[in-house]
Amino acid sequence: MDQPRLTCCLTFDFDAMSVWIGSYRSSNPSEISRGEFGAVAIPRILDLLQRRSILATFCIPGHTALAWPDLVRAIHDGGHEIAHHGWVHENPADFDEAGERRNLERGFEALDKACGVRPVGYRSPAWDFSERTADLLEEFGFLYDSSLMGDDFTPYYMRTGDKAPATEPYEFGAHLDVVELPVTWGLDDFPYFELDSTGGGLKPAFHVEEIWRQEFTWAHAHVPGGIYNLTMHPQVIGRGHRLMMLERLIDFFCEHDDVAFDTLAGYASRWARCNPLADWITGGSLHARGPLRERQTST
Ligand SMILES: [Zn+2]
Repeated sequence: MDQPRLTCCLTFDFDAMSVWIGSYRSSNPSEISRGEFGAVAIPRILDLLQRRSILATFCIPGHTALAWPDLVRAIHDGGHEIAHHGWVHENPADFDEAGERRNLERGFEALDKACGVRPVGYRSPAWDFSERTADLLEEFGFLYDSSLMGDDFTPYYMRTGDKAPATEPYEFGAHLDVVELPVTWGLDDFPYFELDSTGGGLKPAFHVEEIWRQEFTWAHAHVPGGIYNLTMHPQVIGRGHRLMMLERLIDFFCEHDDVAFDTLAGYASRWARCNPLADWITGGSLHARGPLRERQTST
C-alpha cells in the first residue's frame, strides 16, 4: 500500500477548563478562565481547517464535552476525528484500577452524549500513564494511543509490563495490539507558550515556528512513510499571532512533495494494515523488544 512520504497530523487537545482543574488542581476562577478561552478559539481553528481542506484530530476530555457540547458537535460535523482524552484531565496514576476504568467510561459517556461518537484513539491527559493504562487501552478496544515518546516520526506497538527497577537491568514487557503514535514536548505548543508556575512560556511564535519547520524538514528527508504529529491546544494556539504562525506552517508543509494531512485514526489504521503486529515483532523494528502477549482464551 502506498504511503505518503510524510503524513502531517494536526491535533488539538480541547482541554478547556479541565486542564486547570485536573492537572493544575486549581480552584482559582481566573486561572480556570484561561481554559474557557479554548472555546473561543474552536471556531477560529475550524474556520482555518475548513479553508485549507484539512481534517484534524481533536482530543477531548469528557468534562469539556459536557461543558461545550455544541462546539464538540461542530467539530464532529466538520468531519474531524474526536479522540478520548480522559475525564477531567486527571493523572491516571492517581487512581486505583476501578477509578481509572471509571474515568475512561465517563470520557466515553460524555463524548457519546455530546455527539454520539465512540472514539478509536486515546491521548492521556498531560501524557501521564499508570502501570495499568496500556492494558486498559487494549481491553477497551482502542486502535491507537498518542501519549508516549519512544520514537519521533515512526509508530510502534505498545508494551505492557515493562519493569524499571533502578538496581536491575531494564526488562521489556509483551506487546499489545495498540498502535503508539509518538509525541514530544518539542512539538507541543503548551510548554513554549503557556505561562505557568515554573516561569516558562510566552515564547515568540517565530522561535517555535523555526523548530517545528526544522523538525518537519528532517522528518520529510529521513523518515519516509512517517508521521509528523503536532500537538496544539485551542486555548494556546488560538491567539492571533499563533494562528498566523500555524497558517504559515501549513503553507510550508504543502510546499513539500508527497505530503498528506490526515487524522491520527486515519494514519494509525493505514499503518496497522501495512504492519500487522506479528509481522512487526519479527520484522526488525528497534522497538520490538518483547514477545506478543499471550491472550487468554475462553473455552
Ligand atoms: Zn490535554
